[in-house]
Amino acid sequence: MSNIKETVLEINLAHLTHNYKYLKSKLYPNVKILAVVKASGYGSDASIIAKHLEKIGADYFAVAYVSEGIALRESGIKTPILVLHPQPVNFQKLIEYQLEPNLYNIRVLKMFIATAITLHQKEYPIHIKFNTGLNRLGFSENDIDQIIKNLNEAETIKVISLFSHLAASEDVSEKEFTIKQISSFKKITQKMIDKLGYTPILHQSNTSGILNYPKAHFDMVRAGIGLYGYGNDAKYDTKLKPVAGLKSIISQIHSLHIGESLGYNRAFIASELTKTATIPIGHADGIGRQYGNKKGFVTVNNKRAYIIGNVCMDMIMIDITDIDCKEGDEVIIFDINSSAALIAENSGTISYELLTAISPRVKRVVIDDN
Ligand SMILES: *Cc1c(COP(=O)(O)O)cnc(C)c1O
Repeated sequence: MSNIKETVLEINLAHLTHNYKYLKSKLYPNVKILAVVKASGYGSDASIIAKHLEKIGADYFAVAYVSEGIALRESGIKTPILVLHPQPVNFQKLIEYQLEPNLYNIRVLKMFIATAITLHQKEYPIHIKFNTGLNRLGFSENDIDQIIKNLNEAETIKVISLFSHLAASEDVSEKEFTIKQISSFKKITQKMIDKLGYTPILHQSNTSGILNYPKAHFDMVRAGIGLYGYGNDAKYDTKLKPVAGLKSIISQIHSLHIGESLGYNRAFIASELTKTATIPIGHADGIGRQYGNKKGFVTVNNKRAYIIGNVCMDMIMIDITDIDCKEGDEVIIFDINSSAALIAENSGTISYELLTAISPRVKRVVIDDN
């Protein structure tokens, strides 16, 4: 019945279209969508995701590192690409591949201008990031005069956007903090615009900003996890469709008698007659050891089966004592019916970590019902 013959990560493009349209429906028509495709498109495949989003109208892409941007250009992506966390050692390559840097302090701003001058650039597009409370990357309001001074001396670059990042947009108990971040961003960008004499694109919202803070949409939003089908909240999860489906099969079934152990370090000891199934996916595939010992679970024939014992490099073992199944049957680690967010939460992490961990060893299969 199942057509799954080995461990695969299915990438459903119809779901991606659905999520894109859902997020777009939350925005005024003139607000642009920047699709975040860092970390292999949240663990799927950046080039497959970006090609599809380019086709359906995404305005911008973002990646974390220069190497990720180069890979997108090499796969034929023409849309502008913002590199969120570039390192100066890669600035020359960044320019060579027409990628656009986030410049977040005076050190990298100066280094970028120097590289752009060396390469004879004129009005090369850059993005300036301000820290409004995350305290991770970004200029502060006090840096404005120095930024402007450096920009004025260099016709070699042009500010395409001013942006900032929300620290807790998914967290209702931090509403006051988020509102402060939004007003701080407004104040800082107004000052910048006055001094620049032109108005770059303004953007501050990630997925939860899109969903929870319409006042933080500005001219563009940066959608990551939402495009992949997760809304950081049960009420939005039901509106979105997970793009990635991680599936495998049962390799072997064992029956353990009382007192017999399972796997490395004998972490599981049967306290009753226990039927187990071995699945060809392990921590080298991205199912980390935190999912072992009944934290994580999978679905077999519509029933939940917990991972028992320690996760191995290339295998997990699951408890199928009460499940009618046989060797070769399909096993769903996560998909549209069994959310990665739920498994992650049960194991003390978040959907982002589980999704982005799926290693290149797992075969990617595109499902395109369009
Ligand atoms: C990763 C990232 C995003 C996307 O966030 P989601 O919560 O996945 O939507 C947006 N902006 C920045 C700066 C990021 O690093």
